[in-house]
Amino acid sequence: MIIAERKPLEEILSMIGQARSVLIAGCATCVADCMAGGEREVGILASALRIAQRQRNGDVEFVEATVERQCEREFIDRIRELVEKADIVISTACGIGVQAMAERYGTKPIYPGVNTRFLGLREEEGLWTERCGACGDCTLHLTGGVCPVARCSKSLLNGPCGGSTKGKCEVSDEIDCGWQLIVDRLKALGQLDLLEVNIPPKNWASGRHGGPRKVIKKELRDEKRK
Ligand code: SF4
Ligand code: SF4
Repeated sequence: MIIAERKPLEEILSMIGQARSVLIAGCATCVADCMAGGEREVGILASALRIAQRQRNGDVEFVEATVERQCEREFIDRIRELVEKADIVISTACGIGVQAMAERYGTKPIYPGVNTRFLGLREEEGLWTERCGACGDCTLHLTGGVCPVARCSKSLLNGPCGGSTKGKCEVSDEIDCGWQLIVDRLKALGQLDLLEVNIPPKNWASGRHGGPRKVIKKELRDEKRK
């Protein structure tokens, strides 16, 4: 899922400016799971903003609304009335949700209430870690299901580097060496021979370096046109 963290309150307050009516719009999917921008966090943020504005003698109305997924138009259309009434919207969805709202409500200022951090998973209560760099050319079948792009600090496709020590990365002894994890997993799978496979240089054009990406499913588009 997409992992995010709420922005500092002061930063959010600075976005409010002269607005008198603020809609805080949450998303009930990824950002709710990582406890950054779901219904509960929207409530907490709204309370904190109300208190802060009162202390500043500001007369601002904060309205709360959370949709199932802010990255889908069908869901964000359901809060159209609230969006239109507000001077500005603070979205606690990931960057995709914020942009979906901004595209849908062209003349309404939509501001981010969270920082979108990475694609990851919840390891345990209160701990989320990165798992995928969305490189667009997955090689997990060659690396024991451990991503070298996201989990090796240097994104080495053929590792480890010379800095791996006792299972830790040379960047920090708080970071597991991604390539140690790969070796351990390949060993457990009985696939250590895969370490002999030289993974060729990636064409990073399939990742962010090739510019904004799109996926086109022609059959679905043809079907829609019929
Ligand atoms: S190899 Fe690429 S697509 Fe696969 S998990 Fe890693 S970053 Fe994600
Ligand atoms: S020590 Fe391991 S994780 Fe760190 S950069 Fe080297 S191979 Fe990658």
